[in-house]
Formats: sequence, structure tokens, C-alpha cells
Amino acid sequence: MPGGVSSPVRAFKSVGGQPIVFDRVKGPYAWDVDGNRFIDYVGSWGPAICGHAHPEVIAALQEALEKGTSFGAPCQLENQLAEMVIEAVPSVEMVRFVNSGTEACMAVMRLMRAFTGRDKVIKFEGCYHGHADMFLVKAGSGVATLGLPDSPGVPRTTTANTLTAPYNDLEAVKELFAENPDAISGVILEPIVGNAGFITPEPGFLEGLRELTQENGALLVFDEVMTGFRISYGGAQGRFGVTPDLTTMGKVIGGGLPVGAYGGRAEIMSMVAPAGPMYQAGTLSGNPLAMTAGIKTLELLKQEGTYERLETSTKRLIEGIISAARESGLEINGSSIGAMFGFYLCEGPVRNFEEAKNANTELFGKLHKAMLEKGVYLAPSAFEAGFTSVAHTDDDIDATLKAFQESFSSIN
Ligand SMILES: *Cc1c(COP(=O)(O)O)cnc(C)c1O
Repeated sequence: MPGGVSSPVRAFKSVGGQPIVFDRVKGPYAWDVDGNRFIDYVGSWGPAICGHAHPEVIAALQEALEKGTSFGAPCQLENQLAEMVIEAVPSVEMVRFVNSGTEACMAVMRLMRAFTGRDKVIKFEGCYHGHADMFLVKAGSGVATLGLPDSPGVPRTTTANTLTAPYNDLEAVKELFAENPDAISGVILEPIVGNAGFITPEPGFLEGLRELTQENGALLVFDEVMTGFRISYGGAQGRFGVTPDLTTMGKVIGGGLPVGAYGGRAEIMSMVAPAGPMYQAGTLSGNPLAMTAGIKTLELLKQEGTYERLETSTKRLIEGIISAARESGLEINGSSIGAMFGFYLCEGPVRNFEEAKNANTELFGKLHKAMLEKGVYLAPSAFEAGFTSVAHTDDDIDATLKAFQESFSSIN
């Protein structure tokens, strides 16, 4: 396998050392093949918001397994999950299930073009929308970590239609619209950036994009593959009160199985085949096993007080990390929203990818290694967000903060 991994973000190239091979996961923990236990803040890169291998998710999967893993025909469970998504996510009136976030973003891009009859799209530097050709321009952590500007193999003719702007910069977006009249199908963004570290939208940024897209006859698309059901039950759009035209989802919505989804206004979604002419399909899409994990996970998240608990423990974690670093005389800035957090080892604020690059990546490499030795598994890159789960207890957070204190003082 290239680099020994099935996805490049799992490698330790940017922090040094070899990737750790996991044997099993449970709750907030992961065990490697040598039996070492880690408190895990990667959470399978987002899906494990209820904790790994939640007993109710596993039990539901076992039951579903007996009825078969793939029907190749409609199943009731798709309808059940679709109803849950439509009820939860403000922009979604109609939804199509796919098998990954990448697939959802690829399809939404085609839909943006199909609906508007325009070819160009605006994305932001440092935002990742999966590995499809037209999005591999300034695409954040996975690419940035390895120092690849873009990727060979991506035709120029494809990315010629991808315009980029710095995150949190409304003026730049305004200029792009002015320079490309009637040519831009829409704007796609991570409403909170988790693929360039952790960057939050400044007040007015999302609202401004909503206005600009409407004024220019373009669509606004939130890529909520990471933030969906993590920032709130209604995603970032539920939390910030800005409703896009279309939304992509993944990660949490599959509860640890491969699921992606895209949805939005019925008028737009009705263009998708077979309701309309825009083709998009998938042999295993909406399979009963994946739908079951998604349904069960959303049911667990819907329980009273879930997001309040996640918010409180995540806030305590990031505040503890920041004060531990400062006690050791290190520069740091960071924050959290919902069950997502991040920090940069540099002076803040970090409002875009350019400013994120000020982070001390060499120091982060040392921190990462020291934390591993103390049984805490952080994403192996200075440009990834961290993920907490309902399963992380106060004791786990305390143990993590103790490890941060010791690590910060040892690397300084
Ligand atoms: C992870 C991610 C994707 C890609 O999802 P995959 O399931 O890995 O293909 C797309 N967009 C965002 C914002 C993501 O975080």
C-alpha cells in the first residue's frame, strides 16, 4: 500500500515516525496491536461522536446484518434516515445518499452546474471537499501536510473553473463575482474549517456569502461533511442560522460506516436522476447496514442534553490546552465549537489558511510524539481539527490535560 496507509492523513509523515496500527476501538479509546491504549481525539476523523463501537450501534448493526447487507433496491431504512436528516438540517428538503463525503461533494458540484447552467465555482484556500479533480486546489491539510501544491494528474482544464479566495474575505469573493459575471454557479465552503486546523467564520462572513450568492444568481453550498451533526444537531447552519441552498454530509451521518449525502431545496434536488436529468448513481448507496449505523447514531445524538455536554467538555479541554501551553511559555491560539476543537502553536488570531501557516509545525511534531508516549492520540498533523465524543469523560479530559502539561513542558 502506498505509504503503508489507505488514506494519506493517517501517515505520520509531517510529525515524524511510523503510523500506529490499531487493533480495536471502544468508547473514547483506541488500542494498538501492541496493546497500548490511547485516548483518541481523531474519532475515525469525525464519525465516532457517540464514542467508538457504541453498544447500541453495534446491536442495531448485528440485527440488520441478519437481513442482508445490500439490497440493490429501495429499503425502509433509507426513508427513515432521510426523514431524520430533513427534520434536522434546515436547508435540506430532499436528500440523496452516497458512500463518502468525496462522492457527495462531486455530485453537488455537478448539481450546482446543472441547476445554474454555469461552470465556475468559488472555493476557499484551506477548505477540503474530497479528492475530486476540481476541488484539488488549495485543498487544506491532507495536501498541505505533504507539501503538494496541488496534485499531478488533475487536468488544468478542470481546475480552470475553480476560483479560490482566502477564508473570511468577503471582498475577495465580491471581486471574483465582478470579474466573472454570470459564470459562477456557486460558492462552496466548510462553514467552520476543520481541514486547515480549526478556523471559525468571523461574524458576518456566512451572512455576507448568503447575500452575495443571492445577488449574483449563484448557489451557496455548505460542506458539512465534518460539521454536520457535530456543531449542533442541525450542523453549523443550525447553529449560525444561515441557510445554504445545498448541503453535503458524511462522517457522523454514517455512524462509522461509509455514508455521504447531499441535499437541499427541493427545486434544486429535483434535478437529480431519476427525478431529473442530472445523473448520479451508486451500487451500494443507501445500503441497510450503513443506514442502520446512521439512524442509531442520530437517535443517540438526539437525546436531551447531548450537545450541551459535548460543548462543555470540549471547551474545558481546549481552555486547559491553551493554559498548559502558556504556563510553559509557548505561543498558542485555539478554540472550540460543539464537539470540534483546534489550536495552532503560534500567536493568533488565525482567520485563514495563510495565517494558519504561521503555526510551528516542528514543535507540533514534538508535541504529537510526547502525547503518544503519554497515551493520547492526536491527529498526526498541525493542520487538523480535533474531535471529542460523548464517551470522553471528565476523567479522560483530566488525564489528557495532564499529558498536555507534561508534554508542553518537556518540548519547550
Ligand atoms: C472528510 C471531508 C470530506 C471527504 O469525505 P470522505 O468521506 O473522506 O470522502 C469532504 N469535505 C469535508 C469538509 C471533509 O471534512
